[in-house]
Amino acid sequence: MTKNRYDVIIIGTGAGGGTLAYHLAPSGKRILILERGDYVPREKANWDPQVVNVDAHYNAKESWLDKDGKDLHPHTNYYVGGNTKFYGAALFRLRKEDFGELRHHGGISPAWPLSYDDLEPYYTQAENLYQVHGNRGEDPTEPPAKSPYPWPAVSHEPRIQQLSDDFARSGLKPFHVPVGVMLDEKNPHKSRCIRCNTCDGFACLVGAKSDAQVVCIDEAIKHSNVTLLTNSLVTRLETDSSGREVKSVIVERNGNVETYSADVVVVSCGAINSAALLLRSANDKHPRGLANRSDIVGRHYMGHTNSVMMAISKCPNPTIFQKTLGVNDFYFGSKDFEYPMGHISFVGKLDAITLKAGAPAIAPNFTLELMAKHSLDFWLTSEDLPDPNNRVTIGRDGKIVLEYTPNNLEAHERLQGKLKQAMKQTNCAMHGQECHQGLFGRNLYVGQRIPLAGVAHQNGTIRFGHDPKTSALDVNCKAHEVDNLYVVDGSFFPSSAAVNPALTIMANALRVGDHLMKRLGVSETAYERNRQDHELAVSR
Ligand SMILES: Cc1cc2nc3c(=O)[nH]c(=O)nc-3n(C[C@H](O)[C@H](O)[C@H](O)COP(=O)(O)OP(=O)(O)OC[C@H]3O[C@@H](n4cnc5c(N)ncnc54)[C@H](O)[C@@H]3O)c2cc1C
Ligand code: SF4
Repeated sequence: MTKNRYDVIIIGTGAGGGTLAYHLAPSGKRILILERGDYVPREKANWDPQVVNVDAHYNAKESWLDKDGKDLHPHTNYYVGGNTKFYGAALFRLRKEDFGELRHHGGISPAWPLSYDDLEPYYTQAENLYQVHGNRGEDPTEPPAKSPYPWPAVSHEPRIQQLSDDFARSGLKPFHVPVGVMLDEKNPHKSRCIRCNTCDGFACLVGAKSDAQVVCIDEAIKHSNVTLLTNSLVTRLETDSSGREVKSVIVERNGNVETYSADVVVVSCGAINSAALLLRSANDKHPRGLANRSDIVGRHYMGHTNSVMMAISKCPNPTIFQKTLGVNDFYFGSKDFEYPMGHISFVGKLDAITLKAGAPAIAPNFTLELMAKHSLDFWLTSEDLPDPNNRVTIGRDGKIVLEYTPNNLEAHERLQGKLKQAMKQTNCAMHGQECHQGLFGRNLYVGQRIPLAGVAHQNGTIRFGHDPKTSALDVNCKAHEVDNLYVVDGSFFPSSAAVNPALTIMANALRVGDHLMKRLGVSETAYERNRQDHELAVSR
């Protein structure tokens, strides 16, 4: 076996690639992980809102193009752990109904080629792996689960508890958002997570967020059969002369071009970069891009319709960790609107510095500083529908072009209306219904930047399905046209649903991992023995 030959190459270390690497590590197979970024440097600036939110210090330094050919600066992160280093760690299962066809106001959300029940065991595994804290039975749309969350929900702080009680009194069913932070509220002195106000959007300085680096990659590379190469940008995949097999993975590393090969190549660069990599890998057998006879690769880009709504009250909101409350009562519709609207929850507590980077309309008699002190900062998500014209292509100088026209917007406007109504019904002990001063949208468009969430929740660009004419991947996330090529990031989604995507990407990576283990002939007994031996060795 040559030095650069492996059993499996995984490209990308985020929710998909990181989770798969962790799952395959005890197989004993030679695994190479290629990551274009480095580790997030551990420094005080990790938790500095000016550095993170205003200076965008940790964002990718490249620019893409929008449909008019103008530069856009994507809010995406190239590091070991991918975007999970900066995510809010709200780890939701899709609803059972999201796997079937759903009629929306703006059109049809298509069915997935597998059912919720197929993914359920992997959701449970992913929740255990990422230490999700939640309470089953509170969320009215929650799908059936075979076991409880591994940890109790992160508790509400008093202002959020008061809001939860207000919502419940008005007939809603607020619930605790499931989150992946290593918080032990019963033993605070031992808790790795210190419950701080710089979680959502920030990397965790103390390694207490369940991200793909801390939970998966750090563990995977303890196995001697796993190699991680950072600062390794995969620029192209080359096939053999039949076009049926990826034979070379071309990498730019430390200013050199290197070539690697493997029996199985797994692309997990995030939905936009994975599509771009396949498109850039066109050859005479794949003239439209690798695995793209169907012309599906890059199309159906989705990223959710999101907005941040600040509800300003006379009462201050001193909450530190705000992302604990969710409302899904309007997820599938309501009496006055029969179509799905989406999901309401929170972003991390906004501060005046962060607000400057996307200032809302100022509430009468308030400054930005005061608004930040008195705001409840809601995060609203509605499903965007797969439109073939919303797509990733490669433009001038090989740059990524992202074309996106929002759709299904009525659903989102209705959802905002529902939140307005719900807030009007809140009733504080000191100011009564006068406490609520109104809702203000935080502007997510900063300069030439597309909305933050436009790429944060990217998915759908290499969809999976049964029919090679309408999908690029089969049900195992293997390319229909290439026998050793898989994709395990958010690209495979046929529809985006309206809850955060990461847990579904992680669960699917575990599912594909099981398939790969069978394909590679790994015996369950050998795997389990390796896993236990390894655990014993690292615990010594
Ligand atoms: C601020 C923020 C908050 C978020 N909050 C939440 C949340 O609360 N809950 C939730 O579910 N989701 C959240 N998300 C989204 C979540 O982080 C993503 O859905 C998830 O990380 C996507 O996983 P992925 O594997 O598809 O891609 P990524 O995690 O983006 O991983 C892709 C990896 O591939 C690497 N890569 C890219 N191109 C190449 C290449 N050519 N060669 C080598 N390596 C390459 C990248 O550096 C990266 O490490 C948030 C995202 C952001 C940015
Ligand atoms: S809240 Fe916990 S997990 Fe999040 S950044 Fe702070 S210490 Fe880390």
